[in-house]
Order: sequence, then C-alpha cells, then structure tokens
Amino acid sequence: MLDLTPKEIVNREALRVNPCKTCQPVGAMYAALGVRKCMPHSHGSQGCCSYHRTVISRHFKEPAIASSSSFTEGASVFGGRSNLTTAARNIFDIYDPDIIAVHTTCLSETIGDDMGSYISDLKIPEGKHVVHCNTPSYAGSHITGYFNMMKGFMNYLTEKTGIPNGKTAIFPGWANPGDIRHLKKLCEAMKVRTVMFPDQSGIMDAPMTGKYELYPPGGTTISEIRSLGDCRRVIALGEFTSLEPAEHLEKKWKVPFDILPAPIGVDFTDRFIMALRRISKIEVPYDIEERRGQLVDLMLDSSQYTFKKKVAVFGDPDTVLGLTSLCLELGMLPKYVITGTPKEDFAKRARDLFEKYGAQDCLAKANADLFELHQRIKNDRVDLLIGTSYGKQIAKAEDIPFIRAGFPVLDRYGGPLLPIVGYTGGIRLAEKITEALMDRQDRDCKDEDLEAVM
Ligand code: SF4
Repeated sequence: MLDLTPKEIVNREALRVNPCKTCQPVGAMYAALGVRKCMPHSHGSQGCCSYHRTVISRHFKEPAIASSSSFTEGASVFGGRSNLTTAARNIFDIYDPDIIAVHTTCLSETIGDDMGSYISDLKIPEGKHVVHCNTPSYAGSHITGYFNMMKGFMNYLTEKTGIPNGKTAIFPGWANPGDIRHLKKLCEAMKVRTVMFPDQSGIMDAPMTGKYELYPPGGTTISEIRSLGDCRRVIALGEFTSLEPAEHLEKKWKVPFDILPAPIGVDFTDRFIMALRRISKIEVPYDIEERRGQLVDLMLDSSQYTFKKKVAVFGDPDTVLGLTSLCLELGMLPKYVITGTPKEDFAKRARDLFEKYGAQDCLAKANADLFELHQRIKNDRVDLLIGTSYGKQIAKAEDIPFIRAGFPVLDRYGGPLLPIVGYTGGIRLAEKITEALMDRQDRDCKDEDLEAVM
C-alpha cells in the first residue's frame, strides 16, 4: 500500500501526509465525555460531529454521544446563533443532560461566531449548565482541544469557597479509562483523596448490562469541577496536555500544581508515586513496591531481547515521551520519536531523555507526519514500531513488528480497558515489546534454532 513512498526526504512546511494527529474538536469531545451527564455539542456541520464521534467510538468500542448545531448554507453565511439556541432547547428537552459542553469547529471559527454572547443569551433550565470552548482545527491538534475543553469547564464552573476540601486534583492528561482507573487505585493506595478531572472511566468503558444508558454512572461531577478551586494542589500529568489547565487553575484560584510526565515506565511512575507520598506523607505500601520490583525484574530477565533494539515511537506528545522513557529503560534505542502535535518543547524533552540514557543517533520531532517517519525508516530501519493504528501501513510495507499504543487504536479490541500507566502498565508494555521482538525472532530463525526454552 505504501510501497511507493520515496526514500528521499524533502523539507515540507505547508503539507502533512498521513498526519500523526487529529483535529481539536475530537479532544474537546473526549474531555466532555469525562464529565457526568454531559452532552458534548459540536457547533458546526453534521459531518464534523459524525467524524469526531466515529473516531472516538471506534477507539473505545463504545457509543460516543454528541449533538450538533447542524450548520447548513444559511448558518455558514449568517452565523450559528439560531442553530445553537434551537439545539440547546432540543437537547435539554429530549436528552436531559445536566450540562452541555459546546466546542466550535473550523466553520464556526472561520465565520467568527461569538460563543460567549450566544451562550449568555440562552434560556438555560434551572440547575442546568452550558459551557463552551473555542477549538479552531487549523491550530494545534486534538490534544489542544482536550485541554481547551478542560479550561472551558473551569472557566464556567470553578469557584473558591474559602473552605479547603483537602482534596488533590489529578489531571490525568489524555488517558484511556483503564489508565484512569489505575491512577485512582494508586491514589487510593497512597491515601490521597482526589478529584479526577476529567474521568472517562465508567463512561467510555461501561460494562454490558443489557440496558443502554445514555449517561453511564461515571465521570467527574459538576460539583467536583466546582470544587477544583478549593483543592489543596493539582497533580498535572503530561506537560503537553495538562500544563495549560493547571496554570489556568493556578491563575484563577491560586491552586498550586506539580507538573509531571505521564506515569509510563519506572522513572515516570516513581515521580508520580513520590508526588502522592509528599501529600499523604505515608510509606509507599508494599504491594506498590512489589509491583515495581516485578517490573524491574521483567526488564532484567528480557533485556537480552530488547537491548539496543531500534524503535520508532509516534503519537501524542505525553504518551510518546512516556513510551520513549520506558524503551530507554529497557535498553532500547528510540531512533525516531515523533508527534503530530505542534509543540516545539517536545523535541527538547525527548532529547533530554536521549542524553540521560546516553542514546545516540536518535531523532525527535514535533509537528511531524507518518509519511516522513516512513521515509526515515526506509533510510535507516528500526526493529519495532510503537504507536497508533495509523502506523500499520508502514509496519506492513516494511515488515516491521508493530505494537499499538496511544490514541487512536481503531483496529484492535480491549486496549482502552487496560492500563499502560503505573508499574502494572509498565509490565503490560514490557511484555508486549518482548513478545513482539521474540515472535519476530521465532518467525525468522532456522528450524534448528527454534528453541522452546530461551
Ligand atoms: S472541518 Fe475542521 S472541525 Fe470539521 S472534521 Fe474537518 S478539521 Fe475537524
């Protein structure tokens, strides 16, 4: 399929081929799905909303509910005020959410819809809420949309009563429900009372009960979001996803924050556990230490298969940096580390990791695409690919083992239910990596070398 990708790399500024990101509203919709009884609302045409819902539903294998302002030619010319007014009335009447979270699209941004004024003129039923954020898709990526929606909720809802609630807010960054559940377990084990915001667990991993629920009983509640201003501290996971919301809350309500990398791998998880320990001041429970030891043991046992293996990691910036850190801990060489999200500090953070582990001849790049990654692999190949489903064509064309991780993973099942964060997630990833490399070795070796016991 990609057999004709040329080896020669030409510098491109204004064109992305096979992008390594999607558009802002996808992130805004996913953030809104992490709030209880919330209807994400796409202010634009139905096509945008369908695409955003589709990509989220296909990743999670769960229905991603959302409504649309259903722009047609008239709204495109005269603005979407009346569409939003009608939509809000219908949504509250028919679907009865507690809150509608409106995000914009390319079209409504281009015509310059004044969302603040539209929403202030809405007739909102007693006890219900409408919030919004601007998500122009020609800037940033779905990661930008995700934190913009978080800031939208905080803008409208947060308050400071002056009575501290003793809780720590955790901003999990872009995480699967399986990751969020695991983060909550770690906080509980460390005796830290938290507000997880947003929290897609219970919603995007709802169990089969035989009865469809429009609003499954998960998500951050409106009162929890309100209370963020009274939290003692924020632990913001993932600089590129969570720094802006953390700064926003600090500026608005003077809530201090720790910014930490996504807790993937040993070192990055250690930092998270230590941050929790600084808050609760308890000893780390033995079962967390035991799990850490098991991960380190697994890494040592399998190092003969991972050591110096070249890997390309691609996807969202915080996930990619976490995966890169884990690969370096496994003794691998992260030859290409790329994200499509345009954040220049990303390359610096990745280079800091290369330096820390003495990894040479590795390339890190933000605002990159998978076409370029493929070209680089054609010039200097890798032993393993780790990233989203969109890498499968490269894996097939170049016959490289491929591990799916990050968002979106459209062509596999079950991934969002299980963590990649924490020591438990590290064990899962280390197993996947070792297995992929050993499967390849078994496939390619001579019959007489095919050992059952290694
Ligand atoms: S038109 Fe804009 S908002 Fe709609 S799907 Fe395309 S990039 Fe996303």
